[in-house]
Amino acid sequence: MPRDYQSVLSDIEDFIQQERELFGGSMLTERRSAQKPESESQPVTPIPASASWKQAATLDQLNASICTCLECPLGSTRTKFVFGVGNPRATLMVVGEAPGADEDAQGEPFVGRAGQLLNKILEAVQFKREEVYIANIIKCRPPNNRKPNPSEVERCEPYLWKQIELINPKVILCLGLTAAQTLLRTTESMGNLRTRTHTYRETPVIVTYHPAALLRNPNWKRPTWEDVQRMRTMHDELVGRA
Ligand code: SF4
Repeated sequence: MPRDYQSVLSDIEDFIQQERELFGGSMLTERRSAQKPESESQPVTPIPASASWKQAATLDQLNASICTCLECPLGSTRTKFVFGVGNPRATLMVVGEAPGADEDAQGEPFVGRAGQLLNKILEAVQFKREEVYIANIIKCRPPNNRKPNPSEVERCEPYLWKQIELINPKVILCLGLTAAQTLLRTTESMGNLRTRTHTYRETPVIVTYHPAALLRNPNWKRPTWEDVQRMRTMHDELVGRA
């Protein structure tokens, strides 16, 4: 049975309190600024990823085809390419914006503090991290965690489209405004996007706050909880487990 709101809220509050004790009041912002400055990437000569990626029949084939991609300048500043992680036959796919410092170092999406919070949010609605699939719009870290620019999105997003095609999830949970506006081709606000279910090529998409935003603004915990509960209900209806 799904856990009650107060229990989940308590877990998330404990997590955020631990973060505050460790990193102080402004949390992400301070930690980011404490990291050594990173320069914006220099222009590089694009080396196309293997053209075979469009024909990939599995996620492993796709990963192997694009993991050395240098289609945009982010390829020259990344530490690790961050393809995605999880169950290749997942019924729930989680889509975020781009790798951060921890993800860039480890080559896996959502492994930093925001990732730990994502795990708790998923657990709150009875999903284990390993049973869903998690990926980002952008596969390489933008310097200083800046927002990906349109040209980077244009070059990288087709890889996500291919991942979605191969996984064929029943529901997509989109985390954060950038990911949602990109995937859904909209300029709507988070407030509007959260009010209804969208579709990406006939797959239902539910939009909620990015866990990193929750770390900065705990007031968004309750709406996030409401969004993921709605996602869970829709998911179960679509997979016939309601
Ligand atoms: S961000 Fe995407 S398009 Fe740019 S180099 Fe990395 S994988 Fe290639």
